[in-house]
Amino acid sequence: MYGYILFELKSFNLKNGIHHIPLELPWSSPGFVNVYLIEDKDGFIMVDCGVNGDSYYSLLLEYLQKLEIHISNINLLIGTHMHSDHIGLSTKIRESGVPFALFKNSVDFIDDYNDWSLRFKNLKDYAEKHNAPNSFLNDIASIETPSYAGKISKPDILLDEGKIKDVKRNLTTIFTPGHDRTEISLFDESTKIIFSGDHILPKITPFIPTDNENEDMLANYTQSLDKIYEIDHEIIAPGHGDIISKPHSRIEQMKLHHKRRTEKILNFLKESDFTGWEMVENLFPRKLDALNLRLAFQETMAHLIYLENKGRIKQENKNNSIYWKII
Ligand SMILES: [Zn+2]
Repeated sequence: MYGYILFELKSFNLKNGIHHIPLELPWSSPGFVNVYLIEDKDGFIMVDCGVNGDSYYSLLLEYLQKLEIHISNINLLIGTHMHSDHIGLSTKIRESGVPFALFKNSVDFIDDYNDWSLRFKNLKDYAEKHNAPNSFLNDIASIETPSYAGKISKPDILLDEGKIKDVKRNLTTIFTPGHDRTEISLFDESTKIIFSGDHILPKITPFIPTDNENEDMLANYTQSLDKIYEIDHEIIAPGHGDIISKPHSRIEQMKLHHKRRTEKILNFLKESDFTGWEMVENLFPRKLDALNLRLAFQETMAHLIYLENKGRIKQENKNNSIYWKII
């Protein structure tokens, strides 16, 4: 997750052998990713690891040293999802002999992770279809793979839903797609802590990376929220920001945010039909930089697809453009 402002934080203490490292990121918002170390057998399970780069690896080792943990004490690295701020450093850590785990569908997205011209190809075509201006399309076409993403290869372990094997703790994988197609949350039974990656965050709602009309990413996202809501947990330890001590009310707030946005779209469409890009301008009237404009486009299209699947709106071709209409 990037593109939004979060408060900087100090390392917070979690119970039962769980350590937290707020590891610096190469941008300011959010400026840190939360790396967690969960004590297990004769070592630790690491959850997420930050961006690629020698300086970030050195920083991570320094933090580990302060906790008196050596890299050889890490038995397993689990990535919550395939974003560079969560797994960029994974290849470097694997080189130190630590096995790396992602959700099983991650194998379908490795090429996209490693080559951002592939990763953003659908988005460009989709934006063009929905009347995005050339400046926006050119911006997408000019995106290059950043060095902080690193290069990844097939993980050593492909996780399925349920209890993680070869781990002493009762640690469960919960598939929570929406913000990323591969996103998982982890539930630690003994502490009732959920490690949520970017699926649930304390101050912001993660963006929904829609880039085609065949997937209802927002429906997937809200279903994933419901899945976590049902679990008997006490704390959420997110991928960025402070711990969430009232997780159920935070989930309700996040659902409300999306409900309000869909209501806003319906109100616009009661007045007139709009193209996808016009709706972006309705919802985000302030001037945005290239990254935030991209997030705004994806967020808008995610809500339009969601409403279309709920039977509230439809698409219609008019003057060679696709317009969204209320039903
Ligand atoms: Zn993130």
